[in-house]
Order: sequence, then C-alpha cells, then structure tokens
Amino acid sequence: MTYIIAEPCVSTCDTACVEVCPVDCIHGPDDKTGAGAEAKEPGFDPEGKQLYINPEECIDCGACEPECPVEAIFEEDDLPDGQEHWVDINEERSQETPNITETLEPLEGAEDKREALGL
Ligand code: SF4
Repeated sequence: MTYIIAEPCVSTCDTACVEVCPVDCIHGPDDKTGAGAEAKEPGFDPEGKQLYINPEECIDCGACEPECPVEAIFEEDDLPDGQEHWVDINEERSQETPNITETLEPLEGAEDKREALGL
C-alpha cells in the first residue's frame, strides 16, 4: 500500500508534505537535476507540474496527508472515483523526477487552485 498524490497538486506543488515524510520518497516537479529548485526560477511554468510519491519507498505512514493544503494526498484505496489513474502516474513519474526533501515556495497557481477547490 502507498499514498498517492492526485490532481489537486497539479499547478500547486506546495511541498509542505516533504517536510514530514520520514523516508523522503516524494519527487517532482520535473527537472531531473534541479531537485525542485527550478520551481523557484523566474518564468517557471507551473502548468501540469505536480509532486509524486514513489510507491516502492512509501511506508504508508500517512504523515503527509494532513499537510497538503489542497487535499491532494490519498491512501491508494481511498482515491476518489475517477482519480485511480494517479496510481500509475505516481509510480512512473516518481522514477523520472528528483527527490524533493526541502519545502519550496508553492507554485504561482497554488492559491488559485486552493480557492477553486473551495479550501
Ligand atoms: Fe512519506 Fe508517509 Fe506520505 Fe508515504 S505516507 S509519502 S512515507 S509521509
């Protein structure tokens, strides 16, 4: 079992979750060598960017779930209907993206996303 980061994280990348993960298994957003720093660069396009949990490293502790301001993190079996495809996305993309271990500034779209979700 693993936790999964789903659609609300897209264009948010708040990274509050990485501070509490005891095994540092959260990855993203997309630069393989940037370790997330690219998200702070001027002109970084947040469109489609998000964080991912590596399911092979996640110990299912649940610490990250309440930290997410846009409620994007779910236990695999508790994913809302229609969001099951995020299981494969997390597995695949967590292999291709850098490990994030320090909290970064949320992406520019984070506040808008939060408001749109009514959070
Ligand atoms: Fe990390 Fe625990 Fe969240 Fe898994 S459930 S990503 S181990 S904080």
